[in-house]
Amino acid sequence: MAFKKRLSAKKKSELCLQCGKCCMAMTFSGGEVDDDARDEIHWMELHGLKIDYVIERGKTEYYFTIPQRCGALVEADGKFTCGVYDTRPQMCKDYDGRMEGPFGVADCLWRYESEGRPLPVSGPVRIQPRG
Ligand code: SF4
Repeated sequence: MAFKKRLSAKKKSELCLQCGKCCMAMTFSGGEVDDDARDEIHWMELHGLKIDYVIERGKTEYYFTIPQRCGALVEADGKFTCGVYDTRPQMCKDYDGRMEGPFGVADCLWRYESEGRPLPVSGPVRIQPRG
């Protein structure tokens, strides 16, 4: 996908501070859907995991999302910051919420900004205090 605007690291950081959605869950690839996987998927659904399916080159693959927020996320005044930003894992540094498919975030603010669309007014996601 070609985006209208290129975003600076500063702009990306500002947008993430208003959002934090991609830090709220973990998504993994489960592999191809076969009979064994169908049983595992059933088990995952019973545990409340979100399952996404992607059909590619005639094969159906599934992805499962665990709704577990990152323990390093810090909330203050309705905004989120990463509590381990300087030492965050490489996968956090490389992550781009605009990507297509289950690993992306449909309403990633980078996407809105990149496409030149106004940002949604919903505000940052609310997180539950850890019990
Ligand atoms: S979903 Fe996009 S804007 Fe929101 S925190 Fe993740 S990368 Fe940043």
